[in-house]
Amino acid sequence: MKPRWYEDFFWWKIGSLTHDPPYKAWIITDKIRWFDGLSTIGVKATRSRKLRGHEAAVFAICATIFGEEVADLFFKEPWKDIIKKSDILASSFDRWQISEIYELWQKLKVPHPPFDVKEVYLFNALSGELIRPEIVRTSLIEFEEDLHSIWRKISKLDLSLRYHVFYSLYEPLFYDKCLNISGPADTRTPSHSLFDHLYACATIINWLCLDAIAKREKLSLKGLLVRIDLAGVQDFISASRKLRDVWFSSWLASVLVFKTVEELVKQLGPDILIRPTARHNPFYYNFLLRWLEEAKADEEVQKKLKEIGEKYACLKDWPQHAVIPATIDLLLPPCEVLSRLLGREIRNEDELVQYLHERYVNCWKNLVSRSLKEGIKRLRLKEELKGKLEDAARKSRDYGIENIPPLIMRIVMLSIPEDLSPEEREREQWYYDYAFRRLSERFKSIKPLKIHPACLTNLTKVTEDMWRDKNRYRICTVCGKFPSVLDMPHREDEYSEVVPSDLQVYFDLGEHLCSYCFIKRLATHPAIFSSIAKELIGYPASPLGFPSTSSIATYPLMKGLVEAQDDEDVKKIVNEIIKQLEGLRIPSITYWNALRELRNKAKDEVKKFLRYDAELTLLPEEREVQGRAEKLRKAVKESVQDILDPIFTRINTYYAIVRADGDYIGCLLSGHLNQETIGTNYIDLLASSIESIPDEEAKKFARLIRESANNNIRVVKRMLHSELGQKMEGTLEKEIERTAGRLCELFSEVLKEGRIPVTPAYHATLSRALMITALKDIKTVQEEAKGIIVYAGGDDFLAFVPTVFALDLVFKSRRHYSIGDLEHRGFHRMGNGLFMSLGKASRSYSITFGHFKYPMSQLLRLSHEFLKLAKKTRVIHGAFERTKDMLLLAYCPRGGGVKAESALPLSIEEPIKLLISLVSSIENNLLSHSVIYDLIREIKKYGKEIKRSESFSIIENMLRYLLTKNLVVKKKAEHAARLFASELKKLAGYTIFDSEGNEETLLYYIALALWATMATLRGREL
Ligand SMILES: [Zn+2]
Repeated sequence: MKPRWYEDFFWWKIGSLTHDPPYKAWIITDKIRWFDGLSTIGVKATRSRKLRGHEAAVFAICATIFGEEVADLFFKEPWKDIIKKSDILASSFDRWQISEIYELWQKLKVPHPPFDVKEVYLFNALSGELIRPEIVRTSLIEFEEDLHSIWRKISKLDLSLRYHVFYSLYEPLFYDKCLNISGPADTRTPSHSLFDHLYACATIINWLCLDAIAKREKLSLKGLLVRIDLAGVQDFISASRKLRDVWFSSWLASVLVFKTVEELVKQLGPDILIRPTARHNPFYYNFLLRWLEEAKADEEVQKKLKEIGEKYACLKDWPQHAVIPATIDLLLPPCEVLSRLLGREIRNEDELVQYLHERYVNCWKNLVSRSLKEGIKRLRLKEELKGKLEDAARKSRDYGIENIPPLIMRIVMLSIPEDLSPEEREREQWYYDYAFRRLSERFKSIKPLKIHPACLTNLTKVTEDMWRDKNRYRICTVCGKFPSVLDMPHREDEYSEVVPSDLQVYFDLGEHLCSYCFIKRLATHPAIFSSIAKELIGYPASPLGFPSTSSIATYPLMKGLVEAQDDEDVKKIVNEIIKQLEGLRIPSITYWNALRELRNKAKDEVKKFLRYDAELTLLPEEREVQGRAEKLRKAVKESVQDILDPIFTRINTYYAIVRADGDYIGCLLSGHLNQETIGTNYIDLLASSIESIPDEEAKKFARLIRESANNNIRVVKRMLHSELGQKMEGTLEKEIERTAGRLCELFSEVLKEGRIPVTPAYHATLSRALMITALKDIKTVQEEAKGIIVYAGGDDFLAFVPTVFALDLVFKSRRHYSIGDLEHRGFHRMGNGLFMSLGKASRSYSITFGHFKYPMSQLLRLSHEFLKLAKKTRVIHGAFERTKDMLLLAYCPRGGGVKAESALPLSIEEPIKLLISLVSSIENNLLSHSVIYDLIREIKKYGKEIKRSESFSIIENMLRYLLTKNLVVKKKAEHAARLFASELKKLAGYTIFDSEGNEETLLYYIALALWATMATLRGREL
C-alpha cells in the first residue's frame, strides 16, 4: 500500500521543477512582462492572486497545466516552504551569497537593485564561452497547452508515472515550442541554465522529504548518497573474439547497471540519478515508454514521448549503445522513505546494499536462465551440438555462475547528516559538497581492492573434483582465465559435421569457451538475444549487425566499388567472383550502418557482392581467388581514380581501434576546476566571463568576485555599501559586514584550493554535458568515421573504424568535446536545444592500427594500455606544459608486436591537422612517399640540436629543401612545401616526454605517426 504522503512527494518534485519559468531572466530584466505570451486561462487565474513578476508567471503556467487548485498549493505553506528550500539548497555556489545581498536590499528599500545585470547571457561553466539566448516574443501558449493536454490525457494514471512523463517532456517541449535555450539561472552569474537549476531542485527534494513528510517546522537535509560501480569492465570487454561480443559486453554492463537501479528510479523518480542523468538518456526513455505501454497510457502521449526520445535522446526503437558508464551516483531519501516507496523493509545502509545486490544478481540470473535453459532450446539443434551445449550449460551451473555475475559490483554510500562532523553540520549549504567529497574518498579507498568473480564461484571445488577424477579441462581461449565448458572440434571435417554453417560465426573451429564467454556468445544469437532483451529492456530487439574486422578494413574498397558499379569491367569481374560463391551455401553477412548505406546505393551484382564476407571476396587465402580480387581492384581503380582518393581503390587489411577517455573526470566531478584540469583557475574564468557581458553592472559584479577572491574585505564592504546605501546602523551594518566576510571566505577559498564546492546544480550541468557528448560521439563515429561504436559514456568511447577515418575521428570528436558546434562555440545542438560542451576539460586518445588477422582481444588490451600511456605523456613548449590531452598512435603489423608508437598533443590542434594534410598530400601524390624517411632521418639527426639552439629557421629551410625534393609535380606544389615547412617549424619547439620520461621532439613523433599511418593505409611498410 502506498503511504498517504505518496502524492505529496511527487507534487513537491513537480513544484520544484516548475518554481521558476524557464525564461525567468527576461522577466527579471524587464524585457518582457510576466503575462506576455501566456495562455489567458492561467493569466486570468493569476490576476486575483497577489503575485508579481516571475512568480505570477509560474502561477499562470502551473494553473494552465495542472489547474488552479494545484497552483495554489504550490504557493501555500507547507509546499511553498519545501519548494523554496529546494531552490536554496540545490543552487550553485556562486549564487549562495547573491540571495543574501538581495535579501538585505529588500530590507533596506533602496530603489535600485544591487548588481542589476540587465543583459541576458549564458556561459559554458567549463570554458567561459558566452552565448546570448535571444528571447523571441513567441507565444508560450502551445507549450502550456501541449503540457496541459498531456497531463489531462494521463490523469487516470498513477501520479508517479505522470511525474515521470512530465519530467521527461517538460524541458524538450520548451525547446520545441519556445526557445532553443533557457535563460541562465541568474543573470549575474550565468554559469548554468535555468533548467539545470530546476532539475537539480527536484533532486534535492529527496533529502528534504523526510522532514516534510513528518510535517516538521524546520526542514533539514536527510538522506543518502550512493555510488555503484562495476569492476573489471575493460577486461570483460577485451575478452572478445568478435566485434559482436565486444559490443554485447559493454551493452550488458550498461543494462545491468541501469536494471539494478530501475526499480528505485521507477518508484522515486528519475531525479535520483546524478550521473548519468536521466535527461537525454536513451535507457531511461526506453524504460518510460515500456512503462506507458504497460499502463496502457493514451497513445498520443506515447507517441509524443517516443518522438521526444528520438530527438533528444537518440533513442531508435531500443537503447542500442552502452551510454551508461560502469560507475553511477544516486541521491536517495533516507531508508524510512525508501522502504515505504519500495514496499520493502530497508532498515539501514547494509540492507540497501543487500537490496541493490539482489537486484543485480537477479538480473544476471534471468539472463543466464534465458540463455542456458530456453536459449539452447530456441536454437533447434541437431543432437550432437545440442548435447555439447547442454553439457556446457550443466557444467556452468555446477560452477554456480548464475549467482556470480561476471563483473563485481561495488557500492559505497554515505548518510546525511550522520556521516558529517559536528562542524560540518553547521553549514547546510555545504552538505552536498561534504557528502560528495567523502563519497569519492571512500570509493577511492575500496577501488584498488580487486576480486575476481571466479573467486566467488565453485571453481576451486569443481576443478579439484575434476583432477581427482582424472578429468582434464582446458583454459578458455577467449578470456584465458577460466576452465572451458565447451570445446569445439579441432579437425575441420569434424567441426563442420558438428556445427551447422549458420552457427559457425558463434562457435569457432577449435575454440574452448568458459562459462562466461559461452553465455556471452549464446546471448548474441538473434533468437536468444531477443528473449534477453525482452527481459532486460522490455523490448524483443534483434542484436545490431556487426561486421567482421575484415569488413571494416575493406570498407574503403567497397565504397570505391559502389562508385564504380556501372563500369562494365567491374561488373564482369564482380559477376565472376559471385559465380564462384553462389554454389556454396554461405550465410549472408550482417550489415552495419556504413555498409548498409553502401548497400542502399548498390545495384544488382554489386549489391549481391556486398552480402559476402570480405574474407571470401577480397581477402581470400587461395591464390586463384586472390588474383581475381586483384583484378577487381584494378578495374575499380581504373574507373574511379579521378574522383576518389587512392585509399578507396586499395584492398586494405588494417582497421583502427580508437579509444577516448576524458582527463580528470573524477576531479571535475569533485569540483576541482583549476590550472591542471581546465587550464585556468575558476575565479578567473568566472570573473572574465562575467566581465565580457556588455553591461556595467556585470563588470561591477565581476569585480566583487575578484576582490572577494583576493580577500579584500574592505573593498568588498565598500562595494556592498555603494549598492545598498552608505549610511547604516546597528544590525544592518553588521549584516553587511557579515556578508562581505562570507563572500571573501567563499571565493578566496575557491581560489586557494582550486576547487569549487559542488552542488546539485553543478552536477546537473556537468552530467548533462556528458550525456550530450556521448550521443554526439556515437553520431560522429557512425556517420563521419563510418565505424562501429562499442560504448560512449560521455567522457569516454571505444570505436572500430576504417583506418582512413581514424585521425579525422580523433580530431573531430576532440573538438566537439571542448567546443561543441563551431557555430555556437561552447554549445552542442541536439534537437532544437543548445547544450553546454565540456569546455576546457581535455580528453586523451589512443589509435591502434591492427591487421584483421591479429587477435582482436589482444589489440583491444593493447589499445587500452596505449590510452593509459597517453595519459602519462607530457608536452612542453617554453613555459607551456601539459600532461594528458594526448593521442597515442600505434601500429601493430600482422606479424605481431608493436612497430611504432607516436604521441601527439591534442591541446593544440596543429599537430594532428598537419599530420592529416601530410597523409593526404602523399596519398594524392603531391609528395612522394620517400619524404617520410627523409623526415624521420633528418629530424632524428638534427631535431634535438635545433630545438636546443632554437635555430628554427634552419629547420624550416631544411624541411623546405627536403619537401621540395620530394614533390612529385615540382612547380605546382612548391607553395605547399613552403607551407608544410613553416607549419613544421612552428612545432619545432615542442618536446614530448613519454610515460617513462624519455624525451623526444614533437616533429619526430609527427614523422613517425606519418610513417605508421601510411603503412596501414597502404597495407605495407613503405
Ligand atoms: Zn572465457
